[in-house]
Amino acid sequence: MKLTILGCYAATPRTFTNPTSQVLEINNHLFLIDCGEGTQVELRRNKVKFSNIRHIFISHLHGDHSYGLVGLISTFRLLKREAELHVYGPKGIREIITLQLKLSNSWTNYPLYFHELEGKEPKLLYEDDKVTVETVPLKHRIYTNGFLFKEKIGPRKLLINKAVEYNIDVSLYKSLKLGKDVESNDGKTIPNKLVTADPEPPKSYAYCSDTVYYPEIVPQIKEATVLYHESTFLEVNQELAEPTRHSTAKQAAMIAKQARVKTLILGHYSTRYGNINLFKEEALTVFDSVQLAEDGKTFNF
Ligand SMILES: [Zn+2]
Repeated sequence: MKLTILGCYAATPRTFTNPTSQVLEINNHLFLIDCGEGTQVELRRNKVKFSNIRHIFISHLHGDHSYGLVGLISTFRLLKREAELHVYGPKGIREIITLQLKLSNSWTNYPLYFHELEGKEPKLLYEDDKVTVETVPLKHRIYTNGFLFKEKIGPRKLLINKAVEYNIDVSLYKSLKLGKDVESNDGKTIPNKLVTADPEPPKSYAYCSDTVYYPEIVPQIKEATVLYHESTFLEVNQELAEPTRHSTAKQAAMIAKQARVKTLILGHYSTRYGNINLFKEEALTVFDSVQLAEDGKTFNF
């Protein structure tokens, strides 16, 4: 998986910082997650191929997560897009976008589908042969979902030297990768375990923004490879976190620790802080694998 941070700040676009958007690449599929103002510019700056985005996931309808969406949809039209575009987001997103398209007489000439969400339980949104995407219900000032991207377990790894040693015909290699026992050229049954190894453990990415400290998500995101968790505030401003339904860096780290994820990425920083390293320092007091999101930064995992 390759994660590119297009924007990772809260509230307003500023001279050197962008509101929230990121793009996740899995097996040549590009999934756009949130779409604050400036997303198009950052897609270009980071050389992301626009046309490969088929699925956009919007966590909630606050402006710093969604005000770039109508512009992007309109640009796709100007670029003469033909491929389908699927937008997943809270109920109301269809009304917002279609009203703007209607009054600006800018209907898309490509198929545009809205998948509106209003449930409070995790829901499977997307599935293909390699990956699933499901909602992670969060607790914020308005209806909000995070998203969990999970690779499916791959085929078993063929130990080619062993397969040759046991005199197995090449035509049976596919069955071996599927975990089946096979018969060798000299008529013996060869147990699968002798000639294959376990596949790579599937990776997962949990995106959790925006939310108050909400341990109810822990079972669902358990042992994720990477957790992106919002940390709008530092503990010094903890009194602001609860009423605005945001988290501190320490609280993000507590979620990461409870869920035993491999790596925590912090983001959605309030622009009141000059030095984002303070977020990392605070989170490291609780959890030892912490990275900072930064606009334009890429994570491979
Ligand atoms: Zn918000």
